[in-house]
Amino acid sequence: MAETRVAIVTGAARGIGAAIARRLAADGSHVAVLDLREEDTATTVQAIVDKGGRAIGIGADVASGPDVRAAVARTVEELGAPTVLVNNAGILRDNLLFKMADEDWDAVVSVHLRGAFLMAREVQRHQVEARWGRVVNLSSTSALGNRGQANYAAAKAGLQGFTKTLAIELGPFGITANAIAPGFIATDMLRASAARLGITFEEYLDAAAQQIPVRRVGQPDDIAAAASYLCSDEASFVSGQVLYVAGGPQG
Ligand code: NAP
Repeated sequence: MAETRVAIVTGAARGIGAAIARRLAADGSHVAVLDLREEDTATTVQAIVDKGGRAIGIGADVASGPDVRAAVARTVEELGAPTVLVNNAGILRDNLLFKMADEDWDAVVSVHLRGAFLMAREVQRHQVEARWGRVVNLSSTSALGNRGQANYAAAKAGLQGFTKTLAIELGPFGITANAIAPGFIATDMLRASAARLGITFEEYLDAAAQQIPVRRVGQPDDIAAAASYLCSDEASFVSGQVLYVAGGPQG
């Protein structure tokens, strides 16, 4: 039987993060379900517990140093030392460059980049001590450039460089770091994008599917399956990679 690991998944109250948390629990890990508000994590935690898994919900802002330190400390205390980290928390503040406010830039860069940095720095000490670890960072196809997303594209491209650097620095300790770059995944994050275009979410999904080679949009479980592999023991020679999970080729 595989060793029980402790995983932290950020932004796991819903969407892709919730699917990853449920999948890692099904794979046998104990999971800290982290999101901005602890009460929002209840559904994900319950889904894991209902299937016989072990999970706790933690409220924390990944962009806050004190929150991150407290979240990792609580994980250690209640579940054990975390050796799997999935940096998934994210926000969108889309706008064309000439209309983008300073706050829209700062908020997006802060949650995605500073958040991943603070979490990884705090968790790596436990991974180094265990001489084993997995870091998975959620990038995006938008890292290649996307109209209206100067802030998000920069942050998601930045995460790729961050991932490769972690792979180099942490590799000697048995720790791998990889990024998953999803294409169009049907989650609440994109509901607001549909509303902004003045179309229903269903119309938005249909239109998107026509542009994707496999002719469907992605689901959170598509990303969870990729995360499950990258966090597995058998992926120990895969590090510093960006896996595009987008229903077709990218880049
Ligand atoms: P989502 O449904 O909006 O879920 C994101 C979660 O992150 C929410 O529960 C959110 O909490 C939480 N969060 C936001 N800021 C946080 C913070 N500072 N600290 C802790 N938690 C925070 O998004 P998703 O579609 O599942 O996306 C998950 C990740 O995949 C993101 O990094 C996103 O950029 C990336 N991604 C998504 C797609 C897609 O098509 N959906 C494509 C490429 C990449 P609140 O609800 O309270 O805001």
